[in-house]
Amino acid sequence: MVVQLKRQEHEDDIREILQELVKELKRDASKKTLYSTTICISAGNTTDSERHYGVSMSTTGRPAGQILVAASCLNFWEEHVADAVMSYYPKKSRKTYFDVTIQLPADVRCEAFNLGSRDAISPCLSCKNMFGLDTTETQPWACGNCAEVESLSNLLKLEKEVRERVQRNGNWTEENKTRAKRAVMNHLRNKLKEVPFEWDKQFYTAQRAIAEYDGEEEPLPE
Ligand SMILES: [Zn+2]
Repeated sequence: MVVQLKRQEHEDDIREILQELVKELKRDASKKTLYSTTICISAGNTTDSERHYGVSMSTTGRPAGQILVAASCLNFWEEHVADAVMSYYPKKSRKTYFDVTIQLPADVRCEAFNLGSRDAISPCLSCKNMFGLDTTETQPWACGNCAEVESLSNLLKLEKEVRERVQRNGNWTEENKTRAKRAVMNHLRNKLKEVPFEWDKQFYTAQRAIAEYDGEEEPLPE
């Protein structure tokens, strides 16, 4: 909403408004309001390109985070990004049958910042492993939780020229991908049972309006 209001090119305004918003949300800890801690800005190249924003996942507890990441892989994130996350999810180690890294074009900008302090943040080890981002960080966050994921997904959904230059390294095949999707779907079903939540197999997407994505929607695995 803030990006829509301020327009994508006004990066500083967007970060400032979100900083104020997070400060406000943090103020009353008793309300247990969810807020993201990190923002990421991606663009097709470093000069005068449209910026695509994303924030880190804000959930309470493990089942909630795992449910959101699975649902995002199956129904929201751009395909390359979802593939990279699914090569791990729900584990911290790669699936041997779907060992896929996404290599972004070298001129892609992908920069994350702390929403509170506004300091730049290096990509975590998981984001390096999934997207080939350059970092010296050794901390791996749960795959799919970082702001980089949403931001890169938005970039690749909307910029066909960048998307076509992304390389998939590893043993990506249609069959392996279907198998990985089925594993994610099973994990999602189990997590929803744990909560417990009766699922009607519908996904809710608040940002549907921005998905002017020209890719084909894929059928969900049974
Ligand atoms: Zn990360």
